[in-house]
Amino acid sequence: MPEISTLSTATQIAAKLIRRVSPTPEDGGCQDYVGSLLAPLGFVRKSVDTGGITNSIYTRMGELKGTLAFAGHTDVVPTGPVEDWPHPPFDAVIENGILHGRGAQDMKGGVACWIAAVSQLCAEFTPLPTLQLLITSDEEGDSIDGTIRIVEKMQNDGTLPDAVIVGEPSSSKAVGDVIRRGRRGVVQIAAAFEGKQGHSAYPQDAVNAVHMAAPALNRITQIDWGEAAEGFPATTCQITNVQAGTGATNVIPGSCFVSIDIRYNPGIDFEGIEQRIFKACEGAKVVLDIQHQAEAFTTPDCSFLDQVCASIKQITGVETLRDTGGGTSDGRFLAAAGVPVVELGLTNSTIHQVGECVALHELDTLTSIYADIISNFEA
Ligand SMILES: [Zn+2]
Repeated sequence: MPEISTLSTATQIAAKLIRRVSPTPEDGGCQDYVGSLLAPLGFVRKSVDTGGITNSIYTRMGELKGTLAFAGHTDVVPTGPVEDWPHPPFDAVIENGILHGRGAQDMKGGVACWIAAVSQLCAEFTPLPTLQLLITSDEEGDSIDGTIRIVEKMQNDGTLPDAVIVGEPSSSKAVGDVIRRGRRGVVQIAAAFEGKQGHSAYPQDAVNAVHMAAPALNRITQIDWGEAAEGFPATTCQITNVQAGTGATNVIPGSCFVSIDIRYNPGIDFEGIEQRIFKACEGAKVVLDIQHQAEAFTTPDCSFLDQVCASIKQITGVETLRDTGGGTSDGRFLAAAGVPVVELGLTNSTIHQVGECVALHELDTLTSIYADIISNFEA
């Protein structure tokens, strides 16, 4: 391992965060550590702990007008089999220019880059806008006591930012080649089709729940979800689980349980999805539990979006794709509060995988991009 003094600030911070073990909902002391780095820079920490989740809002009042927030998380997904890792997942081993460990890309690395960028700007006495760092330990879990509580707190206090960068690993091949300006929404459905169990030789005395479900499910796969919203992937609907039957071949199943996962773009809304599902299930005896797990969001073209892309171009020369792909993210909670959201972070080549790691040069590139965005921010 190289001498600690030869490592960049971002790398040192990322390594120390990785060594603080924090699978969701644990924080592992990460947010105290972040606070200890930010306090000397003039940040004040407000805790928004709820439901066993550690949430923090760190704020530094600015010399310039406007408020720019950075949102992220210190929790990580489980490691999987530790013996399959090339290096222990919480040791933060550095080898051949690579930092290894759970959270290296998603997203302790990104948090470290933002802190390093702010440290550098403060050391240079650069006049700055008001800066907020919003950190939760509940991003990889249910997200019910995490960023949504932070946003509620800021709404109550009247401290919502003018714009936010979410530090999720948005990049594909090189840092900054992809940012996310929106995400599709998520609707999940549990459907219980109710028939009557019976002997397969006496179908007149039974109601086959699978036979009842099959045409409805076929209609669901044929639903027209409408035009794709501009800049978004199409709305997609996947039947993900079907369970029925006792295991015996001579028993007609009396019930059939189905789960369905829908990823929708802003070309349709939750009510439109519900109506189509109800229509497809007409005629079947079915109990539908339809949950709106995540709202779709999009950040329209604006000077902030342009500035982020200009900073990436300035530092890396890369033309940025303004994308809306992938799953969902905590950005939705800030977008729902009316804050322009841009997700910009490290590459995502090893996120959630055994052997998660990040190249040190990526940490340094992202630090420079964040510093450029912060110092050029205009509310
Ligand atoms: Zn993440």
